Amino acid sequence: MKDNNSDPDLAGEVDEALAAIAKVVSNRELEALRVSYLGRRGSVTERLKQIGGLPPAQRKAFGQKVNEAKASILAAIKARAGQLGERVRDEELSEDAIDVSLPGRNANQGSIHPVTRSVRRIKNIFGRLGFDVADGPEIEDDFHNFGALNIPEDHPARAMHDTFYVTSDLVLRTHTSPVQVRYMKNHELPIRVIAPGRVYRCDSDVTHTPMFNQVEGLAVGTDVAFSDLKGILIYFVREFFEQDLPVRFRPSYFPFTEPSAEVDMGCVFCDSKGCRVCQHTGWLEILGCGMVHPEVFRHVEIDSEKYTGYAFGMGIERLTMLRYAVDDLRLFFDNELAFLNQFR
Ligand SMILES: [Zn+2]
Repeated sequence: MKDNNSDPDLAGEVDEALAAIAKVVSNRELEALRVSYLGRRGSVTERLKQIGGLPPAQRKAFGQKVNEAKASILAAIKARAGQLGERVRDEELSEDAIDVSLPGRNANQGSIHPVTRSVRRIKNIFGRLGFDVADGPEIEDDFHNFGALNIPEDHPARAMHDTFYVTSDLVLRTHTSPVQVRYMKNHELPIRVIAPGRVYRCDSDVTHTPMFNQVEGLAVGTDVAFSDLKGILIYFVREFFEQDLPVRFRPSYFPFTEPSAEVDMGCVFCDSKGCRVCQHTGWLEILGCGMVHPEVFRHVEIDSEKYTGYAFGMGIERLTMLRYAVDDLRLFFDNELAFLNQFR
């Protein structure tokens, strides 16, 4: 009678399985081995089917033997899975290791955008002269952007503003002047205020961008004269450019001021001798200004017999270009680090 307790086939198969398990290097291979021995059609599992062909007295012992074989193969698989897991972890840890002796990465230090820098300088200079700072909406209605500033529907000055319309009554403000109107309606006199902010015009070339920054200035009171306006602007120009520049006022026209003037300063590139930038005139135009038009006062219910005021407006990018000798306006909006890093 055959001794199934020491079945050479089964014992040999277990040895072979344990040797194979010890050699696998991945969980995938290990799983394939498990299926081939212990799966539903695995070679060890299949042996249970032999039980039916054995004499009844031997069945129990043979069954136990197969179960022991399954148990020892399963234990080996579990042990190997544990080792593989550790190995994967070790590999991950050694790949992620931090070399504390490497030099550190430099943190980039940011810089203040040149236009923002100019806005701060402007606020500071006018702050010293007693001006408050105001702002207003960038989407304006027709009344505040045009009507109240003495630019009615059929006024030719509307053609000077290449306006972006949001609806037939709402526009992206074409200048910061509507802030004047809002401020006069909501504040007690006397007033001294500047309003820096973004404005929009449908225009784009070397000296124009669809969005740019302006600063508006306004003073209203019982004794505000054109000579005050001249004094304040000459002071501003010399402070902003930190040079004792010549400044001149030329008669001009704006619908919301009367009289109106444009202001030129001596060319900072050639000491007023004449160069390409100033078109050989020695002068650079920098802002527009004038005495507040009585029609504007009428719209905000200020008595123009009793009060007078002046207003001025200038392009902040233009001032910044002249101060830092930048020749293309678009550089301010490209966000080129090589350009911006110069303004540390
Ligand atoms: Zn010049």
